Amino acid sequence: MLRIFSEELMNPKNFVVTLELVPGRESRGRDTDTLKGIARDAFADGRVSAVSITDNPGGNPSLSPDVLGYEIFKTGLDVIVHFTCRDLNRVGMESRALQLARMGMKNILALTGDYSGKGFGGQGKPVFDFDSVILTAMLQQLNHRLYSQGDPDGFFTGSAMSPFKNTEAETHAQYRKLDKKLMAGSSFIITQLGYDVEKFRELMTYLDSKREDPAVMASVYVLNPGAARIMNQCRVPGAYVGDGLLNRILKEWKNPGEGRKHSIERAAKLGVILKGLGYRGIHIGGIHKNFETVGSILDRMDEIEDSWEDYLEEFRTESGRGFYLFNPQVADPGAPAGPGIRERITEHLPHAFLRTSHNLFFEKKNKLAPVYKKAAKIMDRTGKGWVVKRLLEDPIKKTLLSCQSCGDCAIQHIAFLCPESGCPKHTRNGACGGSRDGWCEVNPDKKCIWVRAYKRLDHCGLAQNLAKDFVPPRMWELNKTSSWINFHLGRDHQKKK
Ligand code: SF4
Repeated sequence: MLRIFSEELMNPKNFVVTLELVPGRESRGRDTDTLKGIARDAFADGRVSAVSITDNPGGNPSLSPDVLGYEIFKTGLDVIVHFTCRDLNRVGMESRALQLARMGMKNILALTGDYSGKGFGGQGKPVFDFDSVILTAMLQQLNHRLYSQGDPDGFFTGSAMSPFKNTEAETHAQYRKLDKKLMAGSSFIITQLGYDVEKFRELMTYLDSKREDPAVMASVYVLNPGAARIMNQCRVPGAYVGDGLLNRILKEWKNPGEGRKHSIERAAKLGVILKGLGYRGIHIGGIHKNFETVGSILDRMDEIEDSWEDYLEEFRTESGRGFYLFNPQVADPGAPAGPGIRERITEHLPHAFLRTSHNLFFEKKNKLAPVYKKAAKIMDRTGKGWVVKRLLEDPIKKTLLSCQSCGDCAIQHIAFLCPESGCPKHTRNGACGGSRDGWCEVNPDKKCIWVRAYKRLDHCGLAQNLAKDFVPPRMWELNKTSSWINFHLGRDHQKKK
């Protein structure tokens, strides 16, 4: 291995370049050969620190990043493996992590993942036993075991983050989750794709304000009309191409030669801006045919690096469309508004009811807590727990929360919304990157529960509590049992915490 990604990225003097490769659906053939050719040329070029390999992108089956990555890794180029929570439960994930450690591939991009796509016989069953924060924590814990077994370096775990959210609620949700990813052990961040320079700046300002200094890389994409259109239509979760940029790209590509030139120029300009803003590197995507385009982008970046500030204006055309953390007054008056009166009633009344009930019956500091515990013990010992569950817990929770009886209730962490019924990815630690203007990536007619949670908390002046604590994974051994009794007997995830 000539270049070690983790060492290069952790040296603040470096500006690191990585490439994203997207395996196809076949185990061999032209697509796979092309990707290996790009990796081979990247290695020969010497300016690329690693390639990252996607994990069933779009939720659709493709050649495993572990096997393709290993073939590339053996040729001497470092590899970042994308690791999602969609296809494996915690047992499979831990096993996969051990396998990667054994293979020596320990650069992991920990992701919640896109929702399930289609495989043999139809849509796959989405697993989402973990979210990306829990996955990061698991890898961190595995590191202790690896060290104790004599492994000198353990996993080098990174996370994705989308600064390109337009609503106040989504922006806060993304940043709170970022805090948790860093707390859980993320060493580097790769942004999702966007073209608003003020949003790129916002992320750096946020980290400065928190005195956090993770290595942050930004995604830069070689956009063609097809990719730009798909991203404009929200068909790539977390990636954002606005109408203005799409129209420019369509015009440029009327002449494909000119279009290609503009794509390279745009990627190079964004690259030097990001370097100027203090990003530690760029992660180049959209390379499907050959390495030549990457070489041209990097050559052009060398030529224009000193004049990066001259290009800022070009990447402000997407700015001002929504909410900005440090400059809320630039928010577009046409951006999605706050809750209306109807929403206030349907959102805030159940929230107030559940919050008050929680404080009365499920607060460990409550004076009556020992009484509840004693009652729970008796119910449990006499096998009468089902009475509480059937006659009280189920009717209330199914009516107010569409409760799925997971037995390990997490509603108190999400402003009294249920992650099992309310979030298709069952996220317990914050929003995934896929929402658009507050709407869910998977069910676009439903609001993201983290957006609802933010609004509920904000309404009571408790917005700072959004996704505050690390929430451990759901305990499946409690499935279909009474979460109330489990809480009082200290069986659920809260005891572990
Ligand atoms: S988190 Fe579990 S127990 Fe709580 S409401 Fe949802 S399904 Fe029911």
